[in-house]
Amino acid sequence: MKKDPVCNMDVREDDAITAECDGLPYYFCSEGCKEKFLKERTCKVPRTSYDLIVIGGGPAGLTAAVYAATLKMDAFIITKDLGGQAVDSTKIENYMGFDFITGPELVEKFQYQLIHSHYIDHLISEVEKIETVEGGFNVTTSELNKYFAKTLIIATGMTRRRLNVDGEDSFQRRGVFYGNIQDFSFIHGEEVAVIGGGNSALQIVENLHTVAKNIHLVSDAKLTADPVIIERVVQFKNFHKYEGFKVIEFTGDSMLSHIRIREKAKAEAINIPVKGVFIAIGLKPNSSIVSHLVKLNEKGEIIVNPDCSTSYPGIFAAGDVTDAFGKRIIIASGEGAKAALAARQYILDLRRKLYDE
Ligand SMILES: Cc1cc2nc3c(=O)[nH]c(=O)nc-3n(C[C@H](O)[C@H](O)[C@H](O)COP(=O)(O)OP(=O)(O)OC[C@H]3O[C@@H](n4cnc5c(N)ncnc54)[C@H](O)[C@@H]3O)c2cc1C
Repeated sequence: MKKDPVCNMDVREDDAITAECDGLPYYFCSEGCKEKFLKERTCKVPRTSYDLIVIGGGPAGLTAAVYAATLKMDAFIITKDLGGQAVDSTKIENYMGFDFITGPELVEKFQYQLIHSHYIDHLISEVEKIETVEGGFNVTTSELNKYFAKTLIIATGMTRRRLNVDGEDSFQRRGVFYGNIQDFSFIHGEEVAVIGGGNSALQIVENLHTVAKNIHLVSDAKLTADPVIIERVVQFKNFHKYEGFKVIEFTGDSMLSHIRIREKAKAEAINIPVKGVFIAIGLKPNSSIVSHLVKLNEKGEIIVNPDCSTSYPGIFAAGDVTDAFGKRIIIASGEGAKAALAARQYILDLRRKLYDE
């Protein structure tokens, strides 16, 4: 693997776009990054100022960026990774145009559109700070690089919630996992538990049912997953449901060996022997980078208007980080497209004001 010197993306040596500069080989994710590299070498000034910066590269941010490119906007996207939560989805059955597609396959198509079909400046990095300045916003990354934009689209999505019970920390990756994992071999023929009752939890059950001996699903409330998945899962002979139960503790020696659960409002606890536990109890919005600027609801989601604008002029938001109804890939993508259209209108209005003055 090589690193694209422009966007920081990991690229495979054999299918990367290459260029030789001062006798050294360089590897790029796309023709666009190669062109940018050669241009910045010649004029010796890296680009740091844009009309629009999109933050986050899940379905919302990637769609916003591709839309911005099709609208010929001067835009830049900064993201910790490409794909966001969608990468973890092993079976997407509700995205238009595909009866069935895996998360990684869909994200690869999004990525292709971002860097090949419509090249847009991009950077793999984490945004740590957003400050308001004259005429727009300064965005600082974890490497302390600063970029300026007249308008922003926040599409930072959500990250996984923790249970916060005894043993959760000490058995992390020694039996306790968050969400899905790639390699299930260590739980082959073993007892396992899945914590949660939403689509993510039930997708994990579907992935485990041919691998594990028994799957114990623990959910503190009624299952909230889509009925089509619930109907499939309840047919599995090795599926056992503990609805209305809370996890109290994870125990074991060097590796996890048991979870203790208790029915809500009852005193007596049950000990279930398990080799692995997969926690999928929901996610929390990644809104902290703008919490000092925009209004949030009680869940910490960014409150958006129908056009994805927020309470702060020039800041738009899209996808799971917002209070928009429905946390789904197709909804996040649609909101991303809407935010790009609204950000473009904002830039056009700024220009119009400048000409009028
Ligand atoms: C296991 C699982 C299965 C799912 N299955 C389905 C399904 O089958 N169908 C469906 O429609 N939906 C499904 N979903 C939900 C769907 O994945 C989300 O609704 C969708 O990904 C939300 O997109 P988003 O772009 O708003 O946010 P996210 O996907 O959360 O993306 C946020 C992006 O922002 C980046 N980011 C965050 N903070 C920063 C920062 N400070 N600086 C830079 N970048 C940052 C992240 O790295 C990430 O790239 C599933 C979710 C999970 C977890």
